[in-house]
Amino acid sequence: MHLITTRVGGVSPPPYDSLNMGMTTGDDPRLVHQNRRRLHELMDLELKFAVHQVHGDTVLVIKDFMDLMAVERADPPIQADALVTNLPDLPLVLYTADCVPVYLYDPLKNVIALVHGGWRGTVKKIVARTISAMEEAYGTNPASLQVALGPSIGPCCFEVGEEVWEEFRTAFHFWPNFVVRTPNKFFVDLWTCTTMQLFMAGVREENVVNSQVCTSCNNDFYYSYRRDSGDTGRMAAIISLRP
Ligand SMILES: [Zn+2]
Repeated sequence: MHLITTRVGGVSPPPYDSLNMGMTTGDDPRLVHQNRRRLHELMDLELKFAVHQVHGDTVLVIKDFMDLMAVERADPPIQADALVTNLPDLPLVLYTADCVPVYLYDPLKNVIALVHGGWRGTVKKIVARTISAMEEAYGTNPASLQVALGPSIGPCCFEVGEEVWEEFRTAFHFWPNFVVRTPNKFFVDLWTCTTMQLFMAGVREENVVNSQVCTSCNNDFYYSYRRDSGDTGRMAAIISLRP
């Protein structure tokens, strides 16, 4: 089971209206709790733990109950931007508002993963690192992975400065495939950059689905950090193995 929440159906006031799932915003935490409770009741989904997302490249693998306890008890929360588990009924959740949520499922080993793919994590190749972690921990064969890219900022709206473009150019030899340069602007296509990383890691083309929904273009349904100048809510991207 995998999903992303929209901004519809919650209790938060503007600019977090209304189903804000993120605590790291200026929103009232009590309202965020109410929003999360709505999701819990509607989907029978209990979010058991949260990590501190830092746009890094740390992959957190939760292999057993001891790992889960350590994550639940960590104070401050563990820093990670990708999560992997084979535990049933343990929803993995990451909060986004433009960053690419990447959902991975290995149907042979029954393992799931979730990646928070912002531009910094993408440059650090967090998707490839996540697949490596799945191979190492569970013997996942990338060719059997099923992958989905959720709503996130599209190439239509992700304009970057020259220094960000330089970082992508340094990190990826295939940068001409995903950077569009107009006379005085640079646009980065995070979807293509992520997808090409997946292919290079051994994921098969027919096993990748991109929602191709731009958060910045769709104000009615999605928060966009870029569009809203940082003052906005967060969607919850979730994947879970149903018992
Ligand atoms: Zn757009």
